[in-house]
Amino acid sequence: MLSSSPTNLADRYAFLQVELARLEHAYYALDNPIVPDSEYDRLYREMLEIEVAHPEWVTSDSLSQRVGGIALKEFDSVTHVVPMLSLNNAFEDTELVAFDRRCREGLHVEQVDYAGELKFDGLAISLRYENGSLVRAATRGDGASGEDVTANIKTIRAIPLKLIGDKIPAVLEVRGEVFMYLKDFQKMNETAAALGEKEFANPRNAAAGSLRQLDSKITAKRPLSFFAYGLGALDPQSWLPATHEKLLDAYVKLGLPVCAERRVLKSVDEILAFYNEVGAKRDSLPYDIDGVVYKVNSFSEQVKLGFVSRAPRFALAHKFPAQEALTTVLGIDVQV
Ligand code: NAD
Repeated sequence: MLSSSPTNLADRYAFLQVELARLEHAYYALDNPIVPDSEYDRLYREMLEIEVAHPEWVTSDSLSQRVGGIALKEFDSVTHVVPMLSLNNAFEDTELVAFDRRCREGLHVEQVDYAGELKFDGLAISLRYENGSLVRAATRGDGASGEDVTANIKTIRAIPLKLIGDKIPAVLEVRGEVFMYLKDFQKMNETAAALGEKEFANPRNAAAGSLRQLDSKITAKRPLSFFAYGLGALDPQSWLPATHEKLLDAYVKLGLPVCAERRVLKSVDEILAFYNEVGAKRDSLPYDIDGVVYKVNSFSEQVKLGFVSRAPRFALAHKFPAQEALTTVLGIDVQV
């Protein structure tokens, strides 16, 4: 928790770097957050605002320049051929108007199609299939390399060990999110409480903690699930659909689970309608989401827009406001 609060801007910036690193370690390495996400997000944005005013203070090891995850040494390390990056976040409507403008200007077009989908609150994973068989699964880690969690991933029923269909690429890396359905999370915590075992703070930490078990027999008992939403490496001889939407359609045909709550959006108005629609049904969804994601639909346009250091320019996460006034972290009620 923020204990002291330096008033001098340079000191405040240095302080935020240290404080955010401490929060990230608890969240990513220990799967045990010590503040609500909204508090972390507030501090992170304050750091970004200082960096906009003082770009000369930003160094290559500033937190804003790298993907947050931390790979545990207990697992073998896997290098990601295609990096697993983060997403830039927007909280205000004006930020998404600016995102649409940047995309249109960057592409020199009047209008851009976006693939709108849910932002699942779980753990990013990369699944490598060779000739249709699952050969390796890795966490995001620091984006460049992650943890080899293949044995654990193989215990998840929703993830096919073999792809199906007649258009199976020689190499395909499927990116997606491992998560826990709310009812499964509640049941698991009730059982843990009855046995006097540790309960998890929320489904996201339960999913991350369950996947990063050294004993896959423990993971096998945890009710994990999966949605595919992205692409890593792909054999160059293989098909590549022209759009993100078509890629996800192809995943369904290969037997991969893809969330049905997705739609192509053709304007800022359609983007906002999607955001409000999803926001209205957020509480009735069977899993946690913390926002929606917009991705430029055309892959050739995605390539043209490219990346900044830790996130693609062609995608944006539009976050929902903190869900409750009081959030329970580690069993303690915390004001947010
Ligand atoms: P992020 O969660 O904001 O965005 C990137 C991630 O979104 C991806 O890695 C992927 O796992 C996920 N994702 C879900 N649905 C997706 C979809 N449809 N398409 C693409 N990606 C999708 O970024 P981040 O770098 O992982 O971390 C920031 C998040 O972690 C914030 O929500 C922050 O609040 C939280 N966090 C909290 C604390 C804390 O102390 N409470 C500390 C660190 C981070």
